Amino acid sequence: MEDIIFDLVEAFAVLGNESGAIDAVLRHCPECVERHIDKNNNLILTISPGNHKKHIMLDAHLDQVGLIVTNVWQDGFLQVAPCGGVDARVLPGSLVRIYSEDNKTFDGIVTSIPPHLSKEKGDEEFPKISELFVDTGLRAEELNLIKPGDFVGFTAKPLKLLNENIAAPGLDNRAGVAAVICCLKILAENIAKLKCKVSCLFSTGEEVTAVGAKTAAFSISPDIAISVDTSFADQKNVPPNKCGKLSLGPMVGISPILSKEIASELVRIAKLNKIPYQNEIMPGKTGTNADVISLSKCGIPTALLSIPLRYMHTPVEIINMEDVKNTARLLACYILEGGASND
Ligand SMILES: [Zn+2]
Repeated sequence: MEDIIFDLVEAFAVLGNESGAIDAVLRHCPECVERHIDKNNNLILTISPGNHKKHIMLDAHLDQVGLIVTNVWQDGFLQVAPCGGVDARVLPGSLVRIYSEDNKTFDGIVTSIPPHLSKEKGDEEFPKISELFVDTGLRAEELNLIKPGDFVGFTAKPLKLLNENIAAPGLDNRAGVAAVICCLKILAENIAKLKCKVSCLFSTGEEVTAVGAKTAAFSISPDIAISVDTSFADQKNVPPNKCGKLSLGPMVGISPILSKEIASELVRIAKLNKIPYQNEIMPGKTGTNADVISLSKCGIPTALLSIPLRYMHTPVEIINMEDVKNTARLLACYILEGGASND
C-alpha cells in the first residue's frame, strides 16, 4: 500500500494533465483487468465474471489542484493563477515544478516576502495569488523556455510520519485512487466469488468541472456507483462536527443526493466484517463526483466513501494508511458479499 501511494503522489496530475497518474495506476493494477482510456482521458479498468447481472462503478478522481503560468515577466518571474481550489495561504515558500509544453520540467519556489519587510501588511493579511510569483532562476535570455499555459504542481516528497500517517501533496485524491486499486487487487484474487461486473473509473477534472465523472458515468452506465474521495479530518482549530477522525476508518456519506440503501448496506457490511467506519453527514451536495454521477442518465444510485484527510489542498495533506486499507476492504467486501452481488 505504501509503495502504491508514494508512486501515485509523485506523479504529476494537475487538472487536465492526468497522464502521469494514469501511468502510475497502470503500474499497480492487476493483469486480469480490461483497460480503456476514453476521450476525456479517463482511465477505466473493468473486471467481470462473464455472466453478471449487476454492474457497479467505483470512481476515484485522479486530478489534483495546482497552478497555471499566466505570464512570464521580463525579469524571469512567473505569474500564476490557481487550477482548482489551491490554498493561497500556504503558497509562499512552496516548492513547485513547471511542466513545459515540450516535456521539460523546471523546479521553482513560490515567492515569499521576508517578514522584516512585510510588517506593515499586518499579521492577519495573507497574500493573494495575484501577488505571488514563481522564481525558477530564469534569466532574461531564457524567457522562451517557459510559456503562459504551462502547468505547475507541488513537488514536496511524501513523508512518513508516526503511526501510519503520511504527508504529501495530492493525497486528495491519490489516497482514494490507491484504495480502489487495492480493492481491485482483492477482487482479482477472489474472482471465483465475483458475481457482478465492476468498472473502476479513474476520473479527470474533478477539481473544477467534474468533466471526467460526468461523461464516463454516462458511457459506463452502471446500475449503481460508489465514489471514493477524501474529506476533512480532525485538526486543531477546526470545529469537530465538520470533520471525521484520522485512523477511525472510511467515512460513509449521508446526504439527500446519495443513495440511502447503498450507505446502509455499506454500514451493515462494515459491521459484519469488523471494518471501522464513521458517518459523514452533508445537508446537500457533497462537493464530489458523487453529485454528478447520481444525476447521470436516468439517475444512478450513488454512495460516497471518503478517506479522512488533514490540510486539504496544501502541499502537506495528511492521511492515515489504515484508513486507505479499510476503505479498500469495505469496497471489496461490499462487492463480494453485499448489495452489489445480489440479483
Ligand atoms: Zn477530492
